[in-house]
Amino acid sequence: MVKAYWNRPITRSQMTPSRDCMQITEIYKSLQGESTHAGLPCVFVRLTGCNLRCSWCDSEYTFTGGQRMASDEVFDEVVRLSPSGGLVEITGGEPMLQERELVPFMQRLLDAGYKVLLETSGERPLAAVPKRVIKIVDVKCPHSGEPDTFDFANLEALAPHDEMKFVIGDRVDYEFARDFAKQQRLAERVNAVLFSPAFRKDANGARDASHCLLDPRQLAEWMLADDVPARLGLQIHKFIWDPALKGV
Ligand code: SF4
Repeated sequence: MVKAYWNRPITRSQMTPSRDCMQITEIYKSLQGESTHAGLPCVFVRLTGCNLRCSWCDSEYTFTGGQRMASDEVFDEVVRLSPSGGLVEITGGEPMLQERELVPFMQRLLDAGYKVLLETSGERPLAAVPKRVIKIVDVKCPHSGEPDTFDFANLEALAPHDEMKFVIGDRVDYEFARDFAKQQRLAERVNAVLFSPAFRKDANGARDASHCLLDPRQLAEWMLADDVPARLGLQIHKFIWDPALKGV
């Protein structure tokens, strides 16, 4: 884990809102904890603000606050943390709430040779996301408290390198994800369909599966029984560091 950015003096451009600024909660380097890129070094750019309120959200600290940063400053910080290129994840909150500034920023990262992941709920339109960005679309299941928020028009914006994720808290969620994946032929549309057991949002201390709202073994057995064309995903950063730790 490489802590970054915060505890630095606020610069002039941060105090001067402009069209080219984004509201940023944190920028840091860690290991990617999810998706098919799990385990790889990754710079995380976490944008402030979310229009959903998922029951198990572990990122509530992104709902407000943060700092206004010029895109140039965000870019410079990414380069400082990972000067030789590599993986950058744009996350939140819901990053697409800042689409106007974010889309050109992602294009700039791509042009500079970075591989860019975008973590989004798919509630906002995704058609403007640069094609080479790998979208990780987290479709909300019933237990999240935010069902029916996925915009089905976004299915047309999916590229073969994208990934669809379902965070699953119980059998109802599992059946929702299983049926959604089947009805929408997700395995044919995207690189990976990820089923991930929900994590208790107040988890701390033990770095094991005891914090999962649904036992991963139970989820695995359901997936095997139904022969679901999906990949079981665990948030490995919560098994490496204290699950309450932010910035990892
Ligand atoms: S979309 Fe993500 S950041 Fe927003 S409430 Fe849900 S889990 Fe939290």
